[in-house]
Amino acid sequence: MQILDGKTYRLELLEEYKKIIEEENLDIRLDIIKIGDDPSSIQYIKNKLKYTEMVGIKSVLHELDENTSEDEIIKLIKELNENDEVTGIILQSPIPQGRDAFNRCALEIAFSKDVDGFGKDNIYNLYMNKETILPCTVIGIIKLLEHYNINLDGASVTIVGRGNIVGKPLSIAMTNRNATVTMCHSHSEPLEKYTKDADIIVSACGCGRLIKKDMVKDGFVGVDVGVSFIDGKQVGDFDESAYDKASYITMPTGGVGPMTISMIINNLINLKKNSDN
Ligand code: NAP
Repeated sequence: MQILDGKTYRLELLEEYKKIIEEENLDIRLDIIKIGDDPSSIQYIKNKLKYTEMVGIKSVLHELDENTSEDEIIKLIKELNENDEVTGIILQSPIPQGRDAFNRCALEIAFSKDVDGFGKDNIYNLYMNKETILPCTVIGIIKLLEHYNINLDGASVTIVGRGNIVGKPLSIAMTNRNATVTMCHSHSEPLEKYTKDADIIVSACGCGRLIKKDMVKDGFVGVDVGVSFIDGKQVGDFDESAYDKASYITMPTGGVGPMTISMIINNLINLKKNSDN
């Protein structure tokens, strides 16, 4: 069993991105909008600021009060859309105003500044197999598999979790790369019926240790996206018993997470280059 090591690969990617930004003299600015004080958001934002700064990207954090109205959030987004100094905009999820309000606000981010790739133009382009900016976790998983020469063309892939951020867009992106994709969710029972013959299993549901040894085939490739906590310890969606049967697998930490953060930089570079053309 070999570990798919996103943490080490991130170091390589950061070097590569830093070089591109320096050599091509790219003046990139990321604006992050934070609303309220969600503890996990604070940590995610801290990491986004840290890694963008490491490669020479400027960032501006807009900290808004938890009672900020939806209109005010949209007004700020529209101002940033119009500001030529801003390369990309992230509205950090979740927001206290709720998921629907988040979706409405995020849709206001201009296509040319949509770092997260959740805007309707990017999703449409993904759907039409004319991909532009892919959601960071989606492109991060694809790049990690490519880095280890794991071929998607012709592979049978089972994705567990049909969330809008990972599972659903990943199923289309992998189909675009000629994988045969089975999309599972909480009504896919028994789950092992869909996981047992898969060459590659990506689990993005956040159900700690859901996928066990008897649910996978020998030599499968496992990509563990899920984050949950059991007895205070961060665990993934794969049970450790499944590791022995894997040819390659990501660990609950140091796998997909570092790739996701690196892809923010990847997407910012692409946005900058597109805006300069
Ligand atoms: P989400 O929108 O809540 O989706 C979760 C999905 O899991 C749903 O489709 C749900 O099915 C499915 N599910 C729940 N229980 C299941 C079960 N027993 N069997 C099969 N499917 C089941 O969540 P998300 O935003 O996609 O995130 C998923 C996980 O990935 C979370 O743990 C999140 O923290 C993690 N994540 C990690 C990263 C990273 O960079 N490492 C990035 C993004 C997300 P239904 O649709 O039927 O409810």
